[in-house]
Amino acid sequence: MAVRPDLRALAGYHSPQVDVEVRLNTNESPYAPPPAFLAELRDELGRIAFNRYPDRRCTDLRTALAAHHGVGADQVFCATGSNEVLQCLLLAYGGVGRAVATFEPSYTLHRHIAEVTGTPVVSAPRDAAFALDLEVVDELERTAAPVITFVCSPNNPTGRAETLHTIQHVLDVAPGLVVVDEAYGQFARASALDLVRAGGPEAQRLVVVRTFSKTFGLAAMRLGYMVADPAVVAACELVVLPYNVDAVSQAAGRLALRHAHAMDERVGQLVAERRRVQTALGALPVQTWPSDANFVLFRPLHADAVEIWRRLVDRSVLIRDCSGWPGLDGCLRVTIGSPEENDRFLAAVDESLR
Ligand SMILES: *Cc1c(COP(=O)(O)O)cnc(C)c1O
Repeated sequence: MAVRPDLRALAGYHSPQVDVEVRLNTNESPYAPPPAFLAELRDELGRIAFNRYPDRRCTDLRTALAAHHGVGADQVFCATGSNEVLQCLLLAYGGVGRAVATFEPSYTLHRHIAEVTGTPVVSAPRDAAFALDLEVVDELERTAAPVITFVCSPNNPTGRAETLHTIQHVLDVAPGLVVVDEAYGQFARASALDLVRAGGPEAQRLVVVRTFSKTFGLAAMRLGYMVADPAVVAACELVVLPYNVDAVSQAAGRLALRHAHAMDERVGQLVAERRRVQTALGALPVQTWPSDANFVLFRPLHADAVEIWRRLVDRSVLIRDCSGWPGLDGCLRVTIGSPEENDRFLAAVDESLR
């Protein structure tokens, strides 16, 4: 039996999982969650009724997230990773003849998940500094009237966050939902959650997507969520598979929020390391871009990016090769790791560029 013809055209997104000592390719946290959190989670495991289906509505986790962000529990929707949140939004609002908008280069899974759900994608370029160009935004919103506009902020893989002024502008001109993907939101100074909390008629179309995978050091758990209008939450509940978030993940998310303070400290450390890596890269023959996230995009000036990527793998350092992605010719992306991992990366990239 032949697979859906439109799926055959979809190239694989997945980052190669190469066996190396220093893994800086998927923007995870280099740090395991705090030991106190793991002890609490072990205790909690003893109280889970494993023979029963989990709470389908994630009541306790939603309540904890709502308190954490200062919103109502009916404004929170949880899923197995923020990618499942994005999939639910596309299943509920996208589909044949219902276009969504992206500004490229950006997170390739927005486009990928849209295509898997049969949703057409219209795209416009970012400006030379990879920020949104408001005139380009206006033109795309006017001509394509997308049901969803995706804004990744801070943008993966380029690094910069949009200002709240820009987000508000997109919201003002977009006819549909504006989904701000804040997978790296904790590393940035401003969050679109402020606009959700401010309320008002436009805020009903604003969706902020977050994840436990990056800052919270829980990528293995697969837990993400959105904060949105209760009507958007209800729409996602129509399409999500029952019991999508298992009981262990629900407990882990709830307990992790109690350690948000420890997470904030790690964010501070990673931001300091990011500055150090950027300064060191600045002394090498590469172009770099400012970052509000836990990764840095750079482009070797006189060397082939794929060759540099290979030389790093030879030195057991894995980073992300973005050079084949549209608009990112010759670009590589490195995740900020522990100080030791960053030292390994900087030494390897220095040697590789010689
Ligand atoms: C990593 C990432 C996500 C992902 O994650 P989950 O692990 O599914 O929560 C979502 N959006 C962006 C922009 C990312 O970089």
